Amino acid sequence: MLKTVDLHKSFGDLEVLKGINTEIHKGEVVAIIGPSGSGKSTFIRCLNLLEEPTKGQVFFKDTDITSKAKKEVDIDKVREHIGMVFQHFNLFPHMSVLDNLTLAPIKIKGMSEQAAKEQAIELLKKVGLEEKKDAYPNNLSGGQKQRVAIARALAMNPEVMLFDEPTSALDPEMVKEVLNVIKSLAQSKMTIVIVTHEMGFAKEVADRVMFMDEGIIMEEGTPDEIFNHPKNQRTKEFLDKVM
Ligand code: ADP
Ligand code: MG
Repeated sequence: MLKTVDLHKSFGDLEVLKGINTEIHKGEVVAIIGPSGSGKSTFIRCLNLLEEPTKGQVFFKDTDITSKAKKEVDIDKVREHIGMVFQHFNLFPHMSVLDNLTLAPIKIKGMSEQAAKEQAIELLKKVGLEEKKDAYPNNLSGGQKQRVAIARALAMNPEVMLFDEPTSALDPEMVKEVLNVIKSLAQSKMTIVIVTHEMGFAKEVADRVMFMDEGIIMEEGTPDEIFNHPKNQRTKEFLDKVM
């Protein structure tokens, strides 16, 4: 579904990603863990070119989306297939929940208003918020906002979902309701890449765990390999601190 080849990203003199080679397969759930500043957000943002790599390639299915022959690749089209959910929801504050969910399908996909509405209601049911369709983001809790943000991303019917610390900005009692929605997505075989500090979630839901440190993938493996039998000293030290 996604592949990176020798992916590098620098901000000025600061080299943040130092050569990332990996593949994310259809239906796979990949959890990215690692210390703050190790490049996790930069990596996930490179996957849909929210950050432009300095060097290397990103493939979405068979298309090199970093191809310099930009005319070959319509990145907006590619992004329609890649849903993204951020730490800070980024809902449109002046629009109702329903309008947040129908805007892109109508404007970008050309869906009829009626069809977009029906789909939005279905998605709100899925995230347990059908009764909030007419509410405005400011009147929702953090957990509810994040579930709306997930539903909004799903409204474009993406082939892969990227999550960057979706529960980090939430009060503790709201973490679970959001993780449960992501878990149900995983169970429906959605391809998922998630940066998270929720080690219990990574252990339970991920097919593969990537430990990133200093701009590279230091170690990756099954949750059992990473959490119970880490090989790399840095992985061990990190897990000792957080678990
Ligand atoms: P993580 O998500 O693992 O905490 P990030 O990918 O956010 O790490 O950041 C990695 C490094 O890149 C940090 O040192 C951060 O300050 C730097 N960085 C991230 N984005 C930018 C940017 N837009 N401009 C300059 N430096 C950045
Ligand atoms: Mg980050």
